[in-house]
Parts: sequence; C-alpha cells; structure tokens
Amino acid sequence: MADQLVRATAAGGRIRAVGVLTTRLTEEARNRHRLSYVATAALGRAMAAGLLLASNFKQEEARINLRFEGDGPLGGILVDAGADGTVRGYVKHPDVELPPNARGKLDVGGAVGANGFLYVIKDLGYGYPFSGTTELVTGEIGDDVLHYLVKSEQTASALMLGVFVGAEGVDAAGGLLLQVMPGADGSFDEDLSTQLAERLERIEGFTPLVRSGRRLPQILEDLLGDMDLQIFPEVQLVRFSCTCSDARVRRALKMLGEAELQDMIDTDGGAEATCSFCNEVYQMTGDDLALLIEQLRAEQSKAITE
Ligand code: ZN
Repeated sequence: MADQLVRATAAGGRIRAVGVLTTRLTEEARNRHRLSYVATAALGRAMAAGLLLASNFKQEEARINLRFEGDGPLGGILVDAGADGTVRGYVKHPDVELPPNARGKLDVGGAVGANGFLYVIKDLGYGYPFSGTTELVTGEIGDDVLHYLVKSEQTASALMLGVFVGAEGVDAAGGLLLQVMPGADGSFDEDLSTQLAERLERIEGFTPLVRSGRRLPQILEDLLGDMDLQIFPEVQLVRFSCTCSDARVRRALKMLGEAELQDMIDTDGGAEATCSFCNEVYQMTGDDLALLIEQLRAEQSKAITE
C-alpha cells in the first residue's frame, strides 16, 4: 500500500477530516538515520503530524516546520513537511532506546521529554513565514501538536498518530486529523468537537486498524460514516524527500571562502558533508575543492571588472 493522504469533509462541511498513511516513508527515515525503536516512533509521529498540518495549505509550495525541543534523551526532533506531500526530518540522538512505558508501549514521551517547547514555522508560500511556540504537554507528539492547534491556531481538533515498529521494521504508520471548522460568526460547535474526540478515543489506535487491513477511506467511513461523510476522490501520494544536492553542498562550501577551502585540501585532502535531514553523505575530493576555489577567483575578478 503506497503512502498516501486522503481528505474528506463531514457534517455539511463543518468537519474537515484528513487521514495519512506513512508506513514506507517512516521505514525510509528509520533506515536513513538508523533510528532506534523509540526514535522511529517519535520521528514517525512527528512526520505524520507535519503532513496532516501541511494538507491544510492552499499553495503547493507551502511548508511547515515542527521542532520539538524537550528535555528527554532524544535531544530534539525537526520535521519539514510540504503541501506537495513531501516530508523530511531527523532526531538529534537517533540511537537512544528506552524501556517500554507503563502501558507497554514505546516510551516516546520519555524519550522526547515533557518539559520544553514545540516551535512551528509555517511558510504559506506568500513570502513571510508565520511562527508559533507552545509548551510541550507530554512529549508524546500527538498531545503536543493538538495543544499547539488549540492554543496557537485556536482550532477545535482531534488528532491521532501512530507508528508500529516490528522486528522487521515499520509495519504501520500514519494518523488522522479531524477539525471543526468555525461557523460564520467565528464560533466553534463545542459539542461537535467533543464528539470527534470521543469517537477517536473509542478506536484502539491508528496502527491496529491499518494492520488489520483497513484502508484510509474505510477508517474515515468507520469514524464519520453516519455524519454525511464526503471523501475527496483525489488521493495524494506522500513520500520522504530531501532538497539537498551536490550543487547545494558546493554552494555551501564556497560560502566558506578560499582560505578555508585551501585548508581543507591541505589538511584532509577533501571534504565530507552530511545532510542532517536525510543523512546523505557528500564526498568532495581535493580536486573538487580546487575547482571551487577557481570558481571563487573567477567570480571575484568578474566582480572587480564589473
Ligand atoms: Zn538531505
């Protein structure tokens, strides 16, 4: 089953519902960053949340960054998700493993830490980013993102995120976001939002449904089928994707200047750069760096002649 995002409305447009399946991209992140079980669950939940929030945006190039800075041993999570269905992210200490929590689940809250902040930056594609900060609630990611939605965006929402990591890797991942749209006077139907939260609480979790073979439209049908559910026919594919490239690494190296580049040639005979978002390693030989120095000189002399 390909990773995908499905949108729907219910209750005559008063409810906006989104479901996202992220099993494969979470497995890709696990492999790329060599994530522990608990780090896989933490980053997987955060990436699903990023995609769910980004699905709200109108512009294709709009993006959202979620940064969880808790006091737990994972040392922070950063996720960058776009309305185009791409997502990337990392955790600071990917090899941290913790014993299961009291409920026998991966201890994401303990790994992230409940004391700290969630920093959100939204670039809606109009040039001026919006940022918001809220305190973490439990470090379990879902609670923290929900708190952000209520406090910072003042939207009544219900959110469920899940990652199931088995011995063979990620078996199921994704989540659901149900939002109550404000009425014409800006007010919220409190009953409706309580109902949504209750309905989500009744199901035992997102990943058990996926693992039992339920697909996103069926899951939405189970939840909201009696509330005039309208599922959009377009299914959006989502994937792990990073914007780093050889050209970008070269540009960044050139910014260091000639002296620094020459020092790299003399001391290490080259350079190695690793992208923190996707863990891709870029190797630059001494000749590559010498070429960059040549280009810098050419650009400088051109600047002088102009
Ligand atoms: Zn990258």
